[in-house]
Parts: sequence; C-alpha cells; structure tokens
Amino acid sequence: MRGEEPALVEALKMRALPEGSYDRLLDFLRLYRDAVQSVVDRVWGINEGLSKKRLHRLFYDDLVSLGLRAHHAKEVYVYAESLVDSARGNGGRRPVLRRLSARVDRYDYRLDLDGMTLTLKLHSNYEVRLKLVTSKERVEKFRGWSNYELVVKYDKGGFWVSVYFKRSVKPSKPGTVMSIDLNFDNVTLAVFTLDGKLIRLKRFKTPHRRILTQRIWIERIQERYPRSWRYIRGVRRAVERHGKRIRNISWDYAHKLGDLVAELALKHHSAVVLEDLEKLRENGKKNKRFNKRLGLWFYRRIQFCVEYEAMERGLEVVKINPRGTSSKCTRCGGKLVEDGHRVLRCRKCGFVGDRDVTATVNLYRKYVSKHPRCGVSGVAPNAPKADADPRSDAGERR
Ligand SMILES: [Zn+2]
Repeated sequence: MRGEEPALVEALKMRALPEGSYDRLLDFLRLYRDAVQSVVDRVWGINEGLSKKRLHRLFYDDLVSLGLRAHHAKEVYVYAESLVDSARGNGGRRPVLRRLSARVDRYDYRLDLDGMTLTLKLHSNYEVRLKLVTSKERVEKFRGWSNYELVVKYDKGGFWVSVYFKRSVKPSKPGTVMSIDLNFDNVTLAVFTLDGKLIRLKRFKTPHRRILTQRIWIERIQERYPRSWRYIRGVRRAVERHGKRIRNISWDYAHKLGDLVAELALKHHSAVVLEDLEKLRENGKKNKRFNKRLGLWFYRRIQFCVEYEAMERGLEVVKINPRGTSSKCTRCGGKLVEDGHRVLRCRKCGFVGDRDVTATVNLYRKYVSKHPRCGVSGVAPNAPKADADPRSDAGERR
C-alpha cells in the first residue's frame, strides 16, 4: 500500500519454522507487542489524530532505545496509531494487545522464495532464519510480484508469516475524470470530460448515522458500567455485539460502494480522483465533515475498497490534497462562506452552490492542474438529491 505506484496487494500466509531455538523470536515478539502497547497507551491519552511526523517525534527515540531497529520503530508507532484510530471508531475501548505478532518492513527481512527461507532482523542486532512451509503452487502465483512487508505471528505453539506482495498495475489512459467527495451523510461523485464538462453526478447515502447509533449504544453501556463492563459477561457481550454490527455495516457498505463506483468509472473510462485523507489530517483544521466520534476510519475503508476495485479494473487512481476544495469559489476562486445547510456562497461574485458538488469540481480542477493534458472550463452544476443508495442499486444489479 506504500509508494505512489498504483498496485494490487495480496497476502500469502505460511507456516514458519525457526532454525534452532524459538526463544529469540519469541523475545522479539514480546518486546514488539509491549512496545506497541506502550505507544497505544500514550496515543490514547492524546485525544486527537497524530501525523506521522509527530508520532516519530514522540516515540522514535524511546522505541530505538529498547533495542528495536529503525524500521521496527516506525512500524510500531504507525500500527499503534491505527489501532487507536479504529478502536475509537469501532468500540471505544483502549486496545489491549495479547497476541504475539509483529509487522516487519522489507528492510528488516530477506525472503528467498526458491529456498523457501526467511531471515528476520530482530532487536539488538539478532537475526533468525525460518523455513517456510507451503505448497509450490501457492508461491508460484507471486513470481514477478514484489513484497514490501510481512506479519509474523505466534499462535497455538507455532509461527506464521503473512507476506504482503504487490504487483503494479499500469492504468489505461483515462477518457474522463471522476472525482469523489466523502461526507458524513453522503458520497458525492462527479464525472467530467477532459475539457471540463460535467457528464454525470451521483450521490450515495452513507450509513454513518446507523454506525453512530451503534456507537452511542456502546457509549451508554460503558457509561453505565464504567469500570465493570469488561468483566460482566453479558455486558461485555452487548458491547461486542454493537461493535460487530458496526464492522458489518461498514465493510458491507464499503465493498458495495467500491464495486459500484468502480463499475461506473469503468463505463466512463475515468481516472478516479480521491481526497488524500492523510493530508486532511495534516492540514490540521477540525473538519466539520468528519464526526469526531467516528473519526476517519470509515472514510479510509471506503477509499480502500474504491481504490482496490478501480485498480483491479485497470483504472488510474489519484489522491489529491483536499485543502481548500470546499472553500474555493469554482467561478472566480474567491473564498466561499456557508449560506445555510450545505450551501456555499461566494462573497466576491455571488456564486451559490452545493458544498459537496463544489468539492468535486475543485478536486477535478486540482487533478487537471497536475495532469495538464486536459483543459479546464467553468462548471457550476446543481446538486442532485441524495436518493441513490448503493445497497439498493447493488441489489438490482444482481
Ligand atoms: Zn466567486
């Protein structure tokens, strides 16, 4: 998932047998888990999203002083932060790690698929060699793919390794541009021709409100049993049930929307333009679109599915810094101010437009300015109603 090249990612899970003693690898996994936990505990206390830079500043030195290598440290704080982020969205409680598992960056291992061996670089300059056990056919598929990360796990008395492979995909030349704006209530997408004409505008509802309802249930239970909820079986089960519902609703939606959007993009031979959510976080401002209780995880999940489905269909996917996309006038470039519910008005030229549609137009323009093969012209489209529901659409298609 790293780097700018569009790529498909898949994991290959294999049994792994250390040559020699298990102890060193177990020590490493314990050290790693405890390091993740300590970062989780500290990030949990800081009630806001943290940029990579900030995470680095806060945790890098401490982690390295434990004997972890540079890239171990990076993996630890990034992983810890993502755990906190999704826990805040899913169930609300501070994650407590029990399992022994570690993510290892490609700088910290050597994989030999011919010899079926793996050498892992551990803490304090230790190394361990593992024999990988799987069928030839399963490995064959990944010839020609590159790998960039793995997860090593200890479970039921044995070690398992999941290697993440990626294959770059060469996207076809786009004939149109589809820009997608994610919001609490809706996902708005617009398809533009390369010379700036709007040819398709669609709006999907999101299940954010349903997810929020589940979250509120969880919070109520936790408020009623602030200390004991984790230890009373029935109460804990209730919390887990709501958490599970959140996961089901969000994955179900993300998969269906991803599929639907990618099919539409394929029909129009679109380059798919998404907001760069990491930039959104770095831009720092509290964004009204993102409900604080829910955070960014659900938007990430939607984007993950859209991106994956689009790339699988050979379409170009581009992420654009969303800074200013919902505050810049599409007619004169002036600053837009709110003028009622989700409506924006330009103080300079009087332009009035729908917030989400304005954002898709600005995303499209940003894309075009980076990819100057297309021209730009003015568009001030009206907004469609939020009546398109991906769930019902998907139902009709099958
Ligand atoms: Zn204006």
